[in-house]
Amino acid sequence: MLLLKRGCKGEGENMKTWQRRFHQKMEWEKPNDTWSLTVEDNLSPRNPERPWHLYQQRKAFARFQCSCCTRRWPSAQVLILFHMHLDWSQRQGQVKMRVCGQKCKKCHGAKFEMPTFSQENIERILDNLVLKIHAKCYRESIANRDLADPIVEEDVEGPHDTTRCEACALGICYLSTYGFVIPASLAAASQPGQLAWWGADTESDWKLLCYVLPVVVALLIFAVLFSGK
Ligand SMILES: [Zn+2]
Ligand SMILES: [Zn+2]
Repeated sequence: MLLLKRGCKGEGENMKTWQRRFHQKMEWEKPNDTWSLTVEDNLSPRNPERPWHLYQQRKAFARFQCSCCTRRWPSAQVLILFHMHLDWSQRQGQVKMRVCGQKCKKCHGAKFEMPTFSQENIERILDNLVLKIHAKCYRESIANRDLADPIVEEDVEGPHDTTRCEACALGICYLSTYGFVIPASLAAASQPGQLAWWGADTESDWKLLCYVLPVVVALLIFAVLFSGK
């Protein structure tokens, strides 16, 4: 288990693992460019100004521990924000990362805790990030089906607790938009690639809306025509 410590600003053994693996992956993919990954606690949850790009990794599985009462809980709904940018003249790329925390439900006034991720999930999250860098920074075409679904390592169910979710506090939680939680058993049973849209970004959200909206409008027209008869 690798702990991502809030306030470590990229220091510490655990963040080094994220950085080392990211560096290795980017060195393999883009040997002519140098890429770095840093944690930024106050990273804006909104779309950054160009030439920066936003990517949100949704539905990441991680484990939390309360720093007051040591209570532990798993979550399959962790949201991670990435801002990324490639400086073509310097051939240097930068990624800033922020993990949205959760509060303990037993402790009054608890702070947002940072979770731990398994090595396997770190690999998948970083692989998704690398794909998005290909698409957004290098303008290469990628297949969304190639985005890996994070592994749900324990069964996690129950309603979404908006009062203890940092993403909700920031106003960017996809669960408060859709208002439901998909049981982990369902997510775990799905085939790889099927849930690729969970690794979403605002651009693909708009594309999804473009597909859904005409269907809704067509259905409404049919409903009006039918009721008029
Ligand atoms: Zn607690
Ligand atoms: Zn939330």
